[in-house]
Amino acid sequence: MIPVTKINVTRPPQQWAPPQLIPPLSRDLLGRDHYWLRRPIDSNANNRGLITYPYGSRGPESLNSRIHAGIDLSNPIGETVRAAGDGTVVWAADGLRVEGGFFEESASYGNVVVIEHDFGYDNRRIFTLYAHLALVNVVPGQRVLRDDPIGLVGNTGRVTGPHVHFEVRLGEPGNYDPEYRPRYGDTYNPVLWMVPYVGTGVIAGRVTDQFGDLVDNAEVTVRSRATGQVSGVTTTYIFENSLIDVNPDPRWQENFVVGDVPVGRHEVVAVIGGERVSTIVNVVEGTTTFVELSLARPPTEAAPESEETDTTG
Ligand SMILES: [Zn+2]
Repeated sequence: MIPVTKINVTRPPQQWAPPQLIPPLSRDLLGRDHYWLRRPIDSNANNRGLITYPYGSRGPESLNSRIHAGIDLSNPIGETVRAAGDGTVVWAADGLRVEGGFFEESASYGNVVVIEHDFGYDNRRIFTLYAHLALVNVVPGQRVLRDDPIGLVGNTGRVTGPHVHFEVRLGEPGNYDPEYRPRYGDTYNPVLWMVPYVGTGVIAGRVTDQFGDLVDNAEVTVRSRATGQVSGVTTTYIFENSLIDVNPDPRWQENFVVGDVPVGRHEVVAVIGGERVSTIVNVVEGTTTFVELSLARPPTEAAPESEETDTTG
């Protein structure tokens, strides 16, 4: 008699996500999208950035964190971390060993892998960074292909729990010096670079005050019109052009991004200094829907206007 084998299910089924679309992907009719990277973690693990510490935010006050230069994907120690695209490993060691602005306060990064990709953007080199790894299984100079395992999720460096901290950095325009590395302040929102899942899209936008100035730290909530469920929450960021700062996407000039939004109509709500501003958009698979939320524009005018648009909001 053959005994029944007990299958050890390590993750509850509700954590399983749909497959990723295939990068590189740019379905935007004006060519503004650049979903050229896969996610650094497989779909059956956690690819959602921490809501409490999105890109460009300062996180919970109690933790006294820096402006977040990447996104944090919480996963158990040992989850496989994969190369987001084809390229060459340019760093694979403890972040402490490097000098200068590459890691800024390097102790906080723990074990890090940095990949320079084989493709650029607007005459700029593209690098991805994977931090807090338990184990690094690549070496500097090594060629990697998209999906290749490069290390394991860990909790090295300054962390409150195991996760991979993922960054996308762009080089200076036209700088192809082999020694050149983009600095800590050269990051961009990874959610505008990682390919969306099947059946989902991305909402990016600008939240501005009545003078047209970008608003910092405004809460943005995305809610499905069909189900009433919250599809995503984030906070806005601003740009000070400093070493510890974040940057807007070269194409979109956004100050917030919400990823993993199911296709269909959604209400996007920003709270600006206690005032609620909202608009309704239609999210299309694999593309970015752009929205402007401003105190200067009454919500009753904003909604019907953007309801008519399809791919770009
Ligand atoms: Zn992080």
